[in-house]
Amino acid sequence: MKKTITAIAAGVLLATMSSSMAADNVLIGSCIYKFDDTFMTGVRNNMEVAAKDLGAEIELVDSQNRQPLQNDQVDTFITKGVNALVVNPVDRSAAGPLAKKAKDENLPIIFINREPVREVLDSWDKSYYVGAKAEESGTIAGQLIADYFKANPAADKNGDGVIQYILIKGEQGHQDATLRSEYCVKAMKDAGMKIEEIGSDNANWDKVLGHDKMKNFITAKGIDAIEAVLANNDDMALGAIEALKSEGYNTGKDPKKFIPVVGVDATAPALQAIGAGQMLGTSLNDAKNQGTAAVRIAVKAAQGEAITDESIGYKVTDGKYVWIPYVRVDATNYKDFM
Ligand code: BGC
Repeated sequence: MKKTITAIAAGVLLATMSSSMAADNVLIGSCIYKFDDTFMTGVRNNMEVAAKDLGAEIELVDSQNRQPLQNDQVDTFITKGVNALVVNPVDRSAAGPLAKKAKDENLPIIFINREPVREVLDSWDKSYYVGAKAEESGTIAGQLIADYFKANPAADKNGDGVIQYILIKGEQGHQDATLRSEYCVKAMKDAGMKIEEIGSDNANWDKVLGHDKMKNFITAKGIDAIEAVLANNDDMALGAIEALKSEGYNTGKDPKKFIPVVGVDATAPALQAIGAGQMLGTSLNDAKNQGTAAVRIAVKAAQGEAITDESIGYKVTDGKYVWIPYVRVDATNYKDFM
């Protein structure tokens, strides 16, 4: 069930890949910005599965959120003789020098999750980006909230016709933080909602920080003043829910004591929280297809083949980009993603 839905929803081309995909002799070196990131752990695990399926070898290293360390790791992979690089930059504005290193060695490099600027991708033929359009997940988040208030007008607790919300943002400078924040607000407005932001802060994708920031907002504004919470990812949403729980809200027991909280990613704990009536919804940030697409490009490019829809089984845009769609997830369909 899950597989079918995900594949269809993701618009994944079900094309069979050409026969030379067997890749016994391909070694991929991959740097992940930090291993201790829930979503990237999903991508990482799926990259290992995809490499195994293709018979390629993949070596994954933890860049520990330090760009200089990541630069050294790329050098080490090059010295080792890897056939392709898959890089989740610590700082996406620092991707240029990594593309240059790859170019100097005639090595394919696939950036994932943190999007370099176009000029970086244009600077080297064999550089690619696999990710998701953050605008989509922002729009889904705003629409989830808008639909909720349409169905539950009494959730406008002070009855002023305006929804007072808190925005918990990811890491500054990350395209997903900027665009999700912008587009969730836009989607609420487009849906005809009157809204007022009563608090907004960065919590760096982190559950504990999400909890702490939410606690601060509750202390500063009072729980009664907060009518909705939009977080740029599920970990921060779940942190915020912990803070609401300690006020007796969002325990899943009393539907009257529920403040709609939305996230992004559809991690396992978020799906559970949706099922338990503690969280309104999220969108699937498709770790499986992002990880698989990145590995397939790495293998094909390492084998000197062209990167096309047919060769990798995913839609390729401008010869450089694979965009994996987000999917709206709420209480009606969360089980399909478990
Ligand atoms: C995910 C976050 C994750 C971040 C890492 C985003 O796309 O939604 O959960 O922390 O990527 O770069």
